[in-house]
This record gives sequence, structure tokens and C-alpha cells, in this order.
Amino acid sequence: MRRSPTVITLLVALALIALPVAAHAFARTSAPAAERGPGEPGRASAPTAAAVGGAPAASRARAAASESSPLAGPPAPEHGAEILLAPQVAPPFANARAVRRAARAAALAAAAAEEADVLVDKRRGLGARYRPRDLVVPRVAFLAGTSREGRHLRRPAARALERMFAAARRDGVRLAGVSGFRSFASQRDLFAGYARERGVENAAHVSARAGHSEHQTGLAVDISGASGRCAATACFAGTRPARWLAGHAHEHGFVVRYPRGREHVTGYDYEPWHLRYVGAALAREVRDSGRTLDELLPR
Ligand SMILES: [Zn+2]
Repeated sequence: MRRSPTVITLLVALALIALPVAAHAFARTSAPAAERGPGEPGRASAPTAAAVGGAPAASRARAAASESSPLAGPPAPEHGAEILLAPQVAPPFANARAVRRAARAAALAAAAAEEADVLVDKRRGLGARYRPRDLVVPRVAFLAGTSREGRHLRRPAARALERMFAAARRDGVRLAGVSGFRSFASQRDLFAGYARERGVENAAHVSARAGHSEHQTGLAVDISGASGRCAATACFAGTRPARWLAGHAHEHGFVVRYPRGREHVTGYDYEPWHLRYVGAALAREVRDSGRTLDELLPR
């Protein structure tokens, strides 16, 4: 019994000697893991790698923005570039957001460069005399009932429409133009007809007042299948041409301008046949963001 304190003292002394030795041995065997730990070069380089991946995209976006517009670009890409220049302090999600902002600014600048960024809606309209200077007739099929005026589109939209119709045809989908450019006077007559039929309030859901139709921009076109079945009516939704347009229009610079579920934003019923040319970059932006032009174009 009297030797017990001595034994305990010995054990404690042994433990004090053994612990640092064991700790040193453990540190040696786990050295590779420690190298990957916080504070070591491997870890510190991770955000830099992410930033390197993001930086060229942002640079390209900024280059596109500055090349495509003689005007100074919006402030967003500049701000984004600043964040990218200091990747060590910016968390990865901030870089992603900066890249998104830069891409959006570049898309808007590209649309502005070909004057495809005009926003016409219930509130913003065009003057009675506005008529695009570069109206041409695209080399595509139109339904027989399409007027001479309605076969015109602005040149960039017309060329893109030709490419889109050709692409659809390669996929076995034959499209036809229903209605393109519409003058202020034509729109006034059209709206008056709807208003007589169903009253002014209801007419406003399906047709625009004069000066407020996208068709007056020369950048909008109603499209149907070659048969003309369900042309510019609700039953066009779900048809093969409608599905093809929903899936591929953005590849050719067009967007379904009044999508389903965004009626409260656009002010119009779902119109799967009404395509609006905005250029490939902005069309992709509309599709990726799930937003409409009303939300993306600067006011
Ligand atoms: Zn339309």
C-alpha cells in the first residue's frame, strides 16, 4: 500500500516522457495530410485556380462589351473585373457572380451594337412615324395570307430567321412566317378589330396598342408550322414546331418573348409563336436566367 504513490509517480513521469515522442512520431506519419491542411500552399492555391478558370470568361465578356459598342460599357463588368483581380480575398461564389454580371453586360452590349435591345412593352412605345431603316424580306416561307408588309424584318433578324428555319428543317421541322414587321397604322387597325370583338380590356391581353407592338420594331415575328395549323393561336402550344422553337430559338438569337408563367411580368398571355430577335448572346442570357426582356433590359 505504501508503494502505490511511488508507482503512480513513476507512471506519470513515464507518460510525460512518452507523450511528446508519440506526438512527434504521429506528426511525421501524417505529414502529407498536414500539407493539404489550411494555411499550406496547396490549399491557398485553390481560390486562385478557380479565379484563373473564371478570369478568361470575364475578360472575353469585357472584350466583347468594349468591341461591340463604341460607348462606354455599363459599370458592372468593371466592378466584376476588380473582384477577379483580387481572388485571394473574394470567396468563389463572388467570382461566379462577377462572371455572370460580366456575361450579362456583354450580352446587352452585343444586342445594343445591332440595335436589337429596344424594349417595347405596355408602357414604352414607339412613335407613329418610327419605321426601321433596314427592313428586308427574309428568304423563308410565309403563310399565304401574310401581307407584303408583314414579310419584312430588320436585316439582322431576317438573316437569323433564315438560319433558324434552315436549322429546323435539318431537324425535320418545317416552319413558316406568319407576321413580321407591322407599322403603327396597321397595329392601330388590328387592335381596333380585337377591341370591337372582345372589348378593350380583353384585347389588351392578346394585342398591343399602336406604338406598343414589338412587331413595329421589325425584330419580332410570329411563326407557325408550314401547314399553318394553329397559327398564332393558343393551340400552337405543344405542337412540334412550338417545341422546336422553345428548345432552339435561342441558338439563333431569338426568344419566346411572352413565355408561360411570366404573364404578370410581360402583361401578355403565353404566346409560343411570337419570337423576338435579340442576338445570340442576349437570347442565351434570357434562357439561362429564366427572365424576360422586361427584366433584363435597362430601363
Ligand atoms: Zn406577334
